[in-house]
Formats: sequence, structure tokens, C-alpha cells
Amino acid sequence: MSLYTKDSIDRLKDAVDMVELVGARTDLRRVGNRFNGLCPFHEERTPSFSVNAEHKLFHCFGCGASGDAIGFVQETEGLDFRQAVEALAERYNVELKREQEDPAAERRRERRERLLKLVQRATDYYVRYLWESGEAKLAREYLAGRGLEEEVLRQFRVGYAPSAWDKVTVKAQRDGFTREEIAAAGLAQRGRGGSGFYDRFRARIMFPLADPRGRVLGFGARAVRSEQQPKYLNTSENELYHKGRQLFGIDLARGQAAKRGRILVVEGYTDVLALHQVGLTETVAVMGTSVTPEQVTLLSQTAGSVFLALDADRSGQEAMLRAARVAAERGVELRVVEMPEGNDPAELVTERGAEAFTELLGSASSVLEFQIRRVLADSDLQSPRGRDTAFEEVRPLIATADSPATRDHLVRYVADKLDLAPDVVTIALQSAPRTAPQRPDGQLSRRPERLLDNASRAERAFLAMCISQGETGREYLRRVTDAHLSSEALRLTRDHLVSHFANPLAEIPGADPVIAATITEVVMLADEEPSSEPALRLGFLQLELRRIERELRHAGQGDDFDRQRELWSERESVRQAIGHVMGETP
Ligand SMILES: [Zn+2]
Repeated sequence: MSLYTKDSIDRLKDAVDMVELVGARTDLRRVGNRFNGLCPFHEERTPSFSVNAEHKLFHCFGCGASGDAIGFVQETEGLDFRQAVEALAERYNVELKREQEDPAAERRRERRERLLKLVQRATDYYVRYLWESGEAKLAREYLAGRGLEEEVLRQFRVGYAPSAWDKVTVKAQRDGFTREEIAAAGLAQRGRGGSGFYDRFRARIMFPLADPRGRVLGFGARAVRSEQQPKYLNTSENELYHKGRQLFGIDLARGQAAKRGRILVVEGYTDVLALHQVGLTETVAVMGTSVTPEQVTLLSQTAGSVFLALDADRSGQEAMLRAARVAAERGVELRVVEMPEGNDPAELVTERGAEAFTELLGSASSVLEFQIRRVLADSDLQSPRGRDTAFEEVRPLIATADSPATRDHLVRYVADKLDLAPDVVTIALQSAPRTAPQRPDGQLSRRPERLLDNASRAERAFLAMCISQGETGREYLRRVTDAHLSSEALRLTRDHLVSHFANPLAEIPGADPVIAATITEVVMLADEEPSSEPALRLGFLQLELRRIERELRHAGQGDDFDRQRELWSERESVRQAIGHVMGETP
């Protein structure tokens, strides 16, 4: 069941001013019935991006990006569907109606909203305290000493927790919150032996940890005085805050990250602030030194390239490889940035500017390559024996490379370092025991498809639109051929949807988990994404365009010129049809 009623999503779509929404990202000029501008999704000099104000659709004739208002916000701000709906509702002042909730769910939601409000008030209080109290002078000096200016500190809502025992608790109680709520929000705790009730954070610089929409869930708190222990104290895991899911700065970074197509991950709060201050506003931090699969998921939803600038000595090798695997499954590239000896990102950009950091990005390596380099750097490569040992260590790493190109690259690199012929390395690899990835349940693991590559994402979205459009949708669904779909899973999903159109979730084939998951995903998308006839028409034309382009690549390889000419003219007419949907006067 979807979270918001179809009616309220329709009202939201009605309320959106598409030209204003898109116009905030790129200048639009009216040409006939449509508006043209430079595409916000790819670099270009002449405008190939257009907006249809009436049907509220966008389409780029250059890169093929297209969709409706909600899709536009998802892409430009790095949000999921629900978050994009909520953001738009806030902007256009539309009240969203929830689907009927069961009373228990409603109570949970109300409690969550109350706790969020409580944490928000504490955030405001800490901010005021940092800038207005005499007590916070030391904290202000520390932050200034790190080169951080008031503007960026205010933007991140950095604050200061007073040293008194119960200022926040007392204030929250005065505002009508119970002790139980204050403790549940992670702001206060009971004393040892159960007596007393006092603020958790005292005499500390407070870094608010927010979700992608900017709602504060918890805090990272740094001691100001050297005798204070521990140096860093975080909100403990609670109803709102989960360490493994948190990315510090994601609320402020996601827009720029989506736009630049990359997101930078560092370790420290002040690193994030320093990088934002010099214009690298696509930067976030993980809590701790290793990246969790949940964080990788969130990162991969935000941008196509993820750069990790973490302290390599401390982040576990295993954790790093796991993160790389999770990223690969989501079609995202994970790269490791090596910091110069003894320099953290904040020092680097403060001393030498943003360029010094962007230069490092240019020489970032894949996680595998990075780990192989580290093994080799720590080995004795002078003696044959040392080289043998080093090879034994890197062998399983090379074996995990799953693309032939990567494997070949690594083989050459290792051969070069170990002073061996590449063929020797290849042969030695073949004789290596296959360390096939095993799942804990003993089944051979199966790589899910790269879920987020653009083509398959668009295909899924189109199938979902068909499901949500009743009879018209069913007609379009029948027109989707094998050649329109980029994977077998999607073809089987389409077959299932055609034969179970009225109730696709009944009788899901259980034998193949990938197909079952794809069907479920498409139906859930359909539930969320009420579509329109013009959107359906545009979506189908895009499937056509991608099919033709795939076939053109094929025909190009075989030197089949007749076929190529045919496809060129087909492509031209599909482009014209798209132009027509987008409101071009014929
Ligand atoms: Zn484009």
C-alpha cells in the first residue's frame, strides 16, 4: 500500500508549476508551446532540454533524461520517491493525505514526530548557546582555529551544549516533553544506580546528524577541554538514530552530489565543513572509519561515483571490499582517494585550496587496486621468496575482479610490480583454488542485476506506469517487445504483468528470487507513481529510442549500411514524435 493517497499525489502534481520548478535549475526560454534550456543532467552548450508546461514533463534530446515533476526532484535533489513527494508538497503547500493507517502505526508515527520535534528544539538551543554564551568562547575559538567561518557553521547548525547538568532536560520539560521522551530522543539519561536524570551532552561542540531531508536525528559531540573523556560522544542507537545508516552532511550535500554525479566521503565532521567551505559541497562523512552496506546504498542513490577519502590504515580491508561489492551491485563506482601522508582533508584544502583535493580525485583507484597496492607496498619485493609471498596474498584479490577488463588491468599491474611475465600471473591465477563467494546459507551467491543503471531503471518505471494506468496501460504493455527491454528478468516480468494484469502480485513465480523481486518492485512503484497518458506516451517513445540506438550499435558493428539507414530514419521519426509530445509545433 502506498503511503499517500492517489488523490493527494494528483493534487500535488496539479499544484506544481513545472516551468518554475525546472527554471530554478536552468534558464528556460519559451519556444512555441514548450520551454527550452540547457540540460541540468549533462554538460552542453546548445539547449536540447525541454519542458512541457501543460503535461508537466521534461525531456532531454541530448542525454535522454525525462520524467515528471516528482522524477525531476528525485534526480536533481537525490531523493527517493516519497522524499521527493514530501519536498514538493512542502514547496507548493499541498496537504498530503495518508492512506488509512492502523492505529498502532499511527501512534508510532506520532511519537516519532514528537521526538523529532524535541531534537529539533535542542538543536536550535545548542546553536544559540554557541553564538551567544560566554561559556562557549573556547568552542568558538577551537572552530575558528580550524579555519571554519560562521557561515558554514551556521549552515550545518553546529552548536554548543552547556556544561550545567540539566539545562536541556529542564527546558524540554518546560516545553511539555516527558522524561521518557527526552531519554528516548537521546538527550538525557538516568544517573548510575538509577538516581538523578541529566543531560547526556555537556560542555561539548554539537554536530547535528540529519537525514537527507535535514531532520536532525542525533548528534556527534566533541569535547572542548583536553581532560574531557571521551573526546567524541555520539547519540546512542535509538528510535531515531542509527549509526550505520547515518551520513553527516547528506542533507546539504545531496543536491550538489546529484548534479555533479559524484559524492565525496570523509571521516571527520570538521573535514566535511572545511570541504563545503571551499566549494566541495558534495561531501559527507561516515560515523567511524568503515562504510556500511546501508550507507553505500544511500550514497549510491545520491550519485553515480563515490569517492572514499578515509583513513586507510584504520578502515578494515574486509569492510572496504564489502562496501565495494555492495556498490557494484547497485551499478555505482566506488573509488579510493589516498591522502598524502600526515594530512587530513581539512588541512589539505585549508592550506592548498579545493584544487589540491580535486587533483587527488583524478588519481583515485578502485578498491581492489587500492588493496593490492597496499599489500605490495608492505611486501619485500627484493627477494624471490618475498615476491612469492606477496603474490599469494594478492591472488585471491585479483580473483574477485568480475570484469575481464579489470582483471586484465590488475594482472598487468601485479606482473609489473613482481617482475613477472603477465602470462605467468594469468596461469598461476587459473591454478588458484576458486574462492567463489559463498553465502552463509551455503547457496552460491548470485549477483543481482545492476539495479540502477539508467536503462533498466527507465524500463522498470515504464512497466510501473502501465500497471497504474488501467486499460490504456495494458495496451502499452502489450506493445513492449523483448527488444525494448535490456534484461531477461525484465522480459519475464513483462510476461507476468501481461498475464496477471489485474492482480500482478497474485501467483508470483517463486522459483526465481530475482524475477519475484523485480515484479514486486514494479508493482510497488506503480502503487506510488500514478501516471498520466502523456507520460506513458513519452515513456514508450523513449523505450523505442533506446531500442533503436541499441540496434544501431549492432548494425554499426556488422557494417550493415541498409539497416543503419533504416534505423536512422526510424530514430528521426521517434525523435519527432517525442518533440510532438513535448509540445513542439509541427
Ligand atoms: Zn541531458
